[in-house]
Amino acid sequence: MKITFLGTGTSSGIPVIGCECIVCNSNNEKDRRLRSSVLIEKNDTRILIDVTPDFREQMMNLSFQKINGILISHEHYDHVGGLDDLRPYSRFGEQDIYAERNVSQALKNRIPYCFMTNRYAGIPDLRIIEIDTSPFQLEDVEIIPIRVMHHKLPILGFRIDNFAYLTDVKTVPSEELSKLKNLDVLVVSALRIKEHISHQNLDQAIDLIHTIYPQKAYLTHLSHEMGLHNEVQNQLEKDIQLAYDGLEIDL
Ligand SMILES: [Zn+2]
Ligand SMILES: [Zn+2]
Ligand SMILES: [Zn+2]
Repeated sequence: MKITFLGTGTSSGIPVIGCECIVCNSNNEKDRRLRSSVLIEKNDTRILIDVTPDFREQMMNLSFQKINGILISHEHYDHVGGLDDLRPYSRFGEQDIYAERNVSQALKNRIPYCFMTNRYAGIPDLRIIEIDTSPFQLEDVEIIPIRVMHHKLPILGFRIDNFAYLTDVKTVPSEELSKLKNLDVLVVSALRIKEHISHQNLDQAIDLIHTIYPQKAYLTHLSHEMGLHNEVQNQLEKDIQLAYDGLEIDL
């Protein structure tokens, strides 16, 4: 299984428009972060988690192939803003989007023209498959949804084999922790150093990693307020790494 980080930034991306901070002005490619998303390739199955407003740019350098399924964590714009850019993928037939019912309704309200019966030419051919926290099969891959809390908003993380991806986490309900045992790789969001109402900060993410105890953890959904990639990385223990755009992991 191969994981490719298509983006590792929070909702504003880095650099933030108009910001003059050292992170936004950094020349290090690792300090440039598109909005957070990963592509998972297992055998011949390609699974995308979230479709960001940067989706078009994120896919430009990858081979153009069918995406077997798209898993949506929640309906915030930084996780779904690229749905309309799935247009070219209609060439492969209907594009399956896996989302909870409330997310499905939010998407249908936001881009109704994609879901009308008489759609005009060129509109992405999206089919939403409603999921809950029950495990399901996507081609030959078992997906285990994980309930996580984004402050008061219940959203989804996902486990595939010994890999799990949890974004926009503030807390993980204790009853979900049993689904996160024996992970080789955990990807989890960490917004910045300071606390935030709906996102874990760095210390809270590290506490969660110590609770789940994966072999290796990667931090994503980072704000420019986290600091420079290399400086923050140097302060982390060796099995915790800041993810960066384009990072690939083989599992
Ligand atoms: Zn987000
Ligand atoms: Zn900045
Ligand atoms: Zn969010």
